[in-house]
Amino acid sequence: MRWVFVGASTIASQYMLGAVRAQKGGDVAWVVSGSAQHGADWASAHNVPKSTSDLAEALADESCDAVYISSTNEKHLPQAMAAIAAGKHVLCEKPLAMSVADAADMVKAAETAGVTFATNHHLRCSGTHRAMQALIAEGKIGKALSLRIFHAVHLPPHLQGWRINDATAGGGVIPDITVHDADVARFLLGEDPQRVVAQMAASGMGEGVEDSAMSVWTMPSGAMVMSHESFTHPFAGSGLEVHGTEGSIFAKDVMTQEPVGDVELVTAAGRAAVEVSRHNLYEQGLADFYSAVAGTGGAAADGQDGVKSLAVAMAVRDAAQTGQAVDVDYGDLA
Ligand code: NDP
Repeated sequence: MRWVFVGASTIASQYMLGAVRAQKGGDVAWVVSGSAQHGADWASAHNVPKSTSDLAEALADESCDAVYISSTNEKHLPQAMAAIAAGKHVLCEKPLAMSVADAADMVKAAETAGVTFATNHHLRCSGTHRAMQALIAEGKIGKALSLRIFHAVHLPPHLQGWRINDATAGGGVIPDITVHDADVARFLLGEDPQRVVAQMAASGMGEGVEDSAMSVWTMPSGAMVMSHESFTHPFAGSGLEVHGTEGSIFAKDVMTQEPVGDVELVTAAGRAAVEVSRHNLYEQGLADFYSAVAGTGGAAADGQDGVKSLAVAMAVRDAAQTGQAVDVDYGDLA
């Protein structure tokens, strides 16, 4: 599969370029950037043959089958719509769009066009999260009662740009990290958050957008989720706990882009380390995307998963802004 990369971004260079090249026959033919110079520099630094600031020019290349979108968040909608209209399969970064309605429109457009559309939620591609999901699905912890997500990190200096000061580009920790946590909760518990209460703050980094959020979500089963995201915590480390009637899962350092972290299962039988695969998260996501395109499997996180994670994040922000409990609005997907 030959790819057009839309967005000469950090995630594209640090993870996705390598993940595409790790797939059989996978390569990136174009990078599209709003800045012709930045695009040309990025292409040359990463051995990508062509760069352009004209998305239509790259999409007209019939030798390319797929488009990966990792521009700033406000650009995802028009770029995805153009890629879908050109008949390309699309892997889009989270958050899919600036609103749930826009994200749902992207998914509908892809369905109508008959192309694969997926969301790059990498955490559900990790060996740790897949092992935890299997334990829960196999009933190893009994009925799930609660999930606690610890995802307060320190945003590295090279990413302290639009994320911390530009609401129009989709900045803020809620669209950035809460979407991932919403996807994790849905993936692990197999149900969609229903109602949320939340608080948010700018605690030293955010300028006009929140850099920290804490929220509590109720699930249809009655399980409760507690979620903490931040850009300002240098030493917190990440983690996740799932507690059930018959056992608890304790996972440390698993809210990350790397194949690291440890998972333990605690039951009446005692405490046991859980074996996990250490594969590359983004390569796994790409492999699943290839299966979805080939019709042999599903994307790790499809378009609807991206709409739903955004819906939860939007409800968290709404709840934090209003101080009220908010029902998650999944729009047509409810
Ligand atoms: P970056 O800030 O690195 O890049 C975003 C955009 O900023 C680029 O697409 C580019 O615009 C512009 N840009 C970056 N550097 C320069 C430069 N030196 N000169 C001019 N323009 C520049 O963003 P990230 O890679 O951190 O995030 C991109 C997207 O990916 C976001 O939607 C984010 O939410 C998502 N993401 C997902 C992750 C995941 O694990 N799933 C992890 C990290 C990010 P242009 O498009 O014009 O080239």
